[in-house]
Amino acid sequence: MAGSARSAWGNLGWPSAAAELRLPDRAAALPVTDTSLLPYGNGRSYGDVCLNPGGSLLQMRGLDRFIAFDAETGVLVCEAGVLLADILALIVPRGWFLPVTPGTRFVSVGGAIANDVHGKNHHGAGSFGAHVRGFELLRSDGSRRRCSPTENADWFAASIGGLGLTGVITQATLQLRRIAGNSIAVRNQRFVGLDEFFAINARAEIEHEYAVAWIDCLAGTPRGVLMAGDHADETIAAPRGGKNVPLTPPLSLINKASLHAFNAAYYGKPWPGGWPTEQTVHYQPYFYPLDAIGNWNRIYGPRGFYQYQSVVPQAAAREATGEMLAAIAASGQGSFLAVLKTLGAQSSPGLLSFPMAGTTLALDFPNRGAPTLKLFERLDAIVRAASGRLYAAKDARMPGAMFRETYPGWQAFQSFVDPKFSSGFWRRVMEK
Ligand SMILES: Cc1cc2nc3c(=O)[nH]c(=O)nc-3n(C[C@H](O)[C@H](O)[C@H](O)COP(=O)(O)OP(=O)(O)OC[C@H]3O[C@@H](n4cnc5c(N)ncnc54)[C@H](O)[C@@H]3O)c2cc1C
Repeated sequence: MAGSARSAWGNLGWPSAAAELRLPDRAAALPVTDTSLLPYGNGRSYGDVCLNPGGSLLQMRGLDRFIAFDAETGVLVCEAGVLLADILALIVPRGWFLPVTPGTRFVSVGGAIANDVHGKNHHGAGSFGAHVRGFELLRSDGSRRRCSPTENADWFAASIGGLGLTGVITQATLQLRRIAGNSIAVRNQRFVGLDEFFAINARAEIEHEYAVAWIDCLAGTPRGVLMAGDHADETIAAPRGGKNVPLTPPLSLINKASLHAFNAAYYGKPWPGGWPTEQTVHYQPYFYPLDAIGNWNRIYGPRGFYQYQSVVPQAAAREATGEMLAAIAASGQGSFLAVLKTLGAQSSPGLLSFPMAGTTLALDFPNRGAPTLKLFERLDAIVRAASGRLYAAKDARMPGAMFRETYPGWQAFQSFVDPKFSSGFWRRVMEK
């Protein structure tokens, strides 16, 4: 099945893989190819970390079986192509929830492990990898390794956040988190300026399991809404329907005017009951607001878009975040979706995991070519000066030198890379 074009979420128009392959059957070894291989989960990474231009992609979604679920202990065993959405459908009615979830539920278990994803509870729960009890790693030499914190612990650490390069994760064992209902009690609070954000966020992280802020980065002084949440006992109906962007429009629908209108409307939204607002909602709109609009990435048009997600250590966070927001405002290239969150001190199990104790800022930018790349150079300089780093799952252009400087684990990691495996991202940041 060569040739069908797999893409990444940013639609930046990468050349496609030479071939797309599946595991011939579950027990089999990896297919033999002349080109390099890369596992492809559900393509929810924004850039080339999930792409292998000129090489082969191994479709993992076919590994979609649940293997075991203990409703007493919350231990789930499933194949790596299972989506978080499928897991939620199984476990929520039985009183369990994912220990960590990213902002979309259309992510595979293998993809969640390989990018060691984080969520709105990072300040308390750490990253996804902290809740993985073990997995099986299949290598191109036909070996299958059980990996856990105590068995092949070095392979476990290399493969969590291992960007799909250490082999194929075939199945994984996850520890889930108990819940009493399917709802989230949400407290939305407005802030104006970063000082206010840091003050109310510090408090929210003590008082709430989840916290994340949306910011309007076009406003002269950054303003936004901090959304804190906790699991609630109520069971309420899931929202019905949803919208879809059926086609990619010929031009990006995101421009200064539409951004200003969106941001002003969001910030100024008249909430019933005034501010701060408190409501109990189904878990989906709280964790996955964008999942309600199918293919929303198409609104950026045929040139696609970049996401720029950084984390900077806490000591430098106030200053570096302020500088980045000022640089973005000055460039006139506003971000439609700007998310600000502090990450906690729990160390990630992975050798190349992104999270570090600090503040993460994630912004989407329509691809305008040179001016957009120029802005990123300025942002890179701020992140590097603050000893921060960028998230591979969202990246499509960071310079190799920046990756190697900011992910010191890369040298130790190299010895775990399967000799048959590669990705567009890896060749780019290793400059080979
Ligand atoms: C709307 C949206 C919101 C998001 N929010 C967040 C967020 O809040 N936090 C966060 O951390 N991320 C977030 N992400 C990013 C997303 O969680 C990650 O990119 C995730 O890794 C995508 O998983 P996937 O299954 O689509 O894998 P892909 O994107 O297809 O692949 C990701 C990586 O996993 C590897 N891989 C996939 N399957 C396997 C396997 N079976 N064995 C070994 N390696 C494998 C691939 O080679 C690749 O390196 C978001 C993405 C979107 C689109």
